[in-house]
Amino acid sequence: LNTQDFRKHAHVMADWMADYFENVEHYPVMSQVKPGEIKSQLPGSFNESPEKFEEIFKDFEKIIMPGITHWESPNFFAYFPASKSKASVLAEMVTATLGVQGMVWLTSPAATELEDRMMEWMRDLLGLSAEWTGSIQDTASTGTFNALITAREKASGYQINQKGFAGMPQYRIYASEQAHSSIDKNVKIAGFGIDNLVKIPVDKNFAMIPEKLEVAVREDLAKGFHPLFVLGAMGTTGTTAVDPLDKIGQIAQTYNLWYHVDAAYSGAALIVPEFRWMSKGMEMADSMVFNPHKWLFTNFDCNLYYVKDPKALTQAYSITPEYLKTDTDTEVNNYRDWHIQLGRRFRALKLWFVLRSFGAEELRQIIRHHCEWADWLKEEIEQSTQFELLAPVPVNLVCFRYNDGKMSEEELNAFNEKLMKEINASGKIFMTHTKLNGKYTLRWVGGHPELTKGHVERAWALMKEMAAHLGR
Ligand code: PLP
Repeated sequence: LNTQDFRKHAHVMADWMADYFENVEHYPVMSQVKPGEIKSQLPGSFNESPEKFEEIFKDFEKIIMPGITHWESPNFFAYFPASKSKASVLAEMVTATLGVQGMVWLTSPAATELEDRMMEWMRDLLGLSAEWTGSIQDTASTGTFNALITAREKASGYQINQKGFAGMPQYRIYASEQAHSSIDKNVKIAGFGIDNLVKIPVDKNFAMIPEKLEVAVREDLAKGFHPLFVLGAMGTTGTTAVDPLDKIGQIAQTYNLWYHVDAAYSGAALIVPEFRWMSKGMEMADSMVFNPHKWLFTNFDCNLYYVKDPKALTQAYSITPEYLKTDTDTEVNNYRDWHIQLGRRFRALKLWFVLRSFGAEELRQIIRHHCEWADWLKEEIEQSTQFELLAPVPVNLVCFRYNDGKMSEEELNAFNEKLMKEINASGKIFMTHTKLNGKYTLRWVGGHPELTKGHVERAWALMKEMAAHLGR
């Protein structure tokens, strides 16, 4: 494509994008294709000669679009949202156009310095103290990995980096039974061995029982292990349960554990002062992760990794080959030393566009509304004789199931699975599930910036209608 072609197609594309935003609710939310259906329409090899952009785009609409699950739909109530806003899409267009590789300050000073500032703005918006600093990373999984590696290196005097694990103590890592699976994956790949991840039981609200954490740490000490790291969840994936961060923090301090807080999802609610009860004790932590790409309207990927002691992190990660040395190395942040990969996307731009285009007050208003409407749904479920609430609703995730009191546990599980599949097959809304105490649990989470109470009411009406349609 030459520049003239680019301009022409970009205009068409901008119209397509605006039309998509306007019409997204007309698509089935969950893609209705069968496995292999998309691939079978794609030729096994591609042609030697160039094709017209119009042809490529026509195929995109015909072949690819039916295989898209519409995360952009306000009727997407599955997993956790990857909610974004139009401002962040515009920023991504600019980011792709500039193609900046922000690995060191010199490779685009604006990328580094905007990131410095965005981490400060976000820290203030979340109500964190000035002790915290950090950088933008791809995902929360990566952030938690950084925390584990830093804890490992700091505890070993940076010896594991140097010599490997031989002769080192058996380090132990603690997280609740409800913590996100990224801790399991990270423990494996950071070399600790998954048997050294100790899962701490949860209470009836699915939050870690801190007394059990202390018992586990003491038992490990008695066995000669080295308790190293504890993860507290501020919003678990299953139910958005909030671990008692203050009590965990006190235990971390007593036993000298690295304390990491996973606020990947619910962190967004901290911009609203009423929700800051959830972060009580977070100030005792050494590191924390929060994903604006989940519920702060900034498109994937955008994770904020905050630390109190960035030097410990960079000491664990820093490698400076000759070709990366610059004159400003001692004066600036070179964010390549803050994570595994060298190259890094210019993610700060979309956060800047989002924060400025909404303004703090509107962001707070949207989050408040999402939580109010989740509360409304929770109350409807509590008042219903046919549905039952299965977990508290601290923010905007509602966990529930159909239960008319006439089925065995086994029948209930089968019925709720069927109900969810029917609802999703309707294409009107999309929800996913988890299992809580063996119960098949429907999860409803509303996090789209343009969600309205009407969407929530229609979703609830559909669930009742579908249950009736299935003969209940
Ligand atoms: N932590 C929590 C609580 C999550 O819910 C998730 C994903 O849903 C993650 C971590 C992992 O997030 P990411 O996809 O950014 O690695």
